[in-house]
Amino acid sequence: MKLADLERAMWRQGCRKRTPDKGPHTKWICPCGRHRAIIPRHREISALVVGNTVKGLACLEEGWLA
Ligand SMILES: [Zn+2]
Repeated sequence: MKLADLERAMWRQGCRKRTPDKGPHTKWICPCGRHRAIIPRHREISALVVGNTVKGLACLEEGWLA
């Protein structure tokens, strides 16, 4: 999946990038503040990373990344 699409979906769910935003990965924090996602800065994000992101952001509504 494209990074831009994943980021847009996370943003819509209320997730925000942690700042400062540096290094090879971007850290995202969920709305409740207890869950994290680490996303590599690739244009295309592998299914494995997408799956881990969905699992990691456990407080989001099921099916948010349909
Ligand atoms: Zn959470």
